[in-house]
Amino acid sequence: MKSVYLDNNATTAVDPEVLEAMLPFYTEHFGNPSSAHRHGSHPAAKLRACRNDIAAFLGCSPGELTFTSCGTESNNLAIRGILDADENKRHIITCSVEHSAVLNPVKRMRDMGYDVTILPVDSEGQIDLQELEGSIRDDTALVTIMYANNETGVLLPVDRIAEIVAARGVPYHSDTVQAIGKLPLDLGALPVDSISVSGHKLHAPKGVGLLYIRKGTRCRPVLLGGTQEKGRRPGTENVAGIAGLAKACELAAARIENYPKDIRALRDRFEQTILSEIPGTAVNGAGAERLPNTTNIRFDGVTGGAMLMHMDEVGIYASAGSACKSGAGEPSHVLSAMGLTPEQARSSVRFSLGGETKSEDIDYALDHITRIVNRLRKGSPQAAGQ
Ligand code: PLP
Repeated sequence: MKSVYLDNNATTAVDPEVLEAMLPFYTEHFGNPSSAHRHGSHPAAKLRACRNDIAAFLGCSPGELTFTSCGTESNNLAIRGILDADENKRHIITCSVEHSAVLNPVKRMRDMGYDVTILPVDSEGQIDLQELEGSIRDDTALVTIMYANNETGVLLPVDRIAEIVAARGVPYHSDTVQAIGKLPLDLGALPVDSISVSGHKLHAPKGVGLLYIRKGTRCRPVLLGGTQEKGRRPGTENVAGIAGLAKACELAAARIENYPKDIRALRDRFEQTILSEIPGTAVNGAGAERLPNTTNIRFDGVTGGAMLMHMDEVGIYASAGSACKSGAGEPSHVLSAMGLTPEQARSSVRFSLGGETKSEDIDYALDHITRIVNRLRKGSPQAAGQ
């Protein structure tokens, strides 16, 4: 059966070149980079080289990078670590469409006595910048607002947010997990204080991520242990994973000029064909600037869950809500925050294309999706999977 993978915001396939870059660090160069003997020296040198290369890719200094296990860990470290560094400030600002890897650590801090402002978004998934400015207080310890939303692809104006927040001398963390590798990003030009990266969103493996923390931004460790990553994130480094991440960044840098426009053309054709061929459909966040690979489409009268099941049967893979929560049965908190009713949110499906998505994959998906929606709307028991 043909397989059309349209769930690249959930995870991406490891690029063969990435895998090749990783393998030696499981075999001949398996040593611990902290070991003083010969087996440690090659992994230690690789670690230094990867840090330098990734720093060049992101436009920062190597010393500003801390390797972690994933995007979730990076967000937790930024939030907890920055708050712990200044215990006199007890107010946090975030927004309602953040990933649970930000919202849940922030809610934990609220349970621990912090005051939390969760900024609402409008129907396009945007915060009001004046409201942001007005909610910054003398005791605001951290603003954490994402760059690209994982469910809708909606981009938040991080550069303007960074300017507003920097003018008040408050640290600004941005969850950039979905943006890295899909959009060019230059930390030299973007005044954020920390960002999170997750390897498996850009064709590196699962189990590796990083946190950028601008020099001078105080951030205490969450894990306590040895001196790896200057003590900021102790634990023996995942050298193979980091080698894979560095290779994935190199590959992303090579394709970043053309990737956004190529993938946007495919995404737009997919989206526009659905809107014109299938009545009762709408794109969530259509009026906003979005990631070029993502579209979140509402199919009135059918549930996202039924769509996913029927698409799976013909080899088309997408998701309803974020992968971390799909199956939970709750309507998406992102779509709800944008004003969709629970029913509308439940009838939405996220399609996220990847570099390997071909024009014929889009044709195949369009053909089947049109038929699936028609069948589901007719309510045939077969179509409903009963
Ligand atoms: N932040 C965003 C915006 C995400 O989309 C995800 C994963 O879907 C994460 C954080 C969590 O990243 P990880 O799976 O590496 O923990």
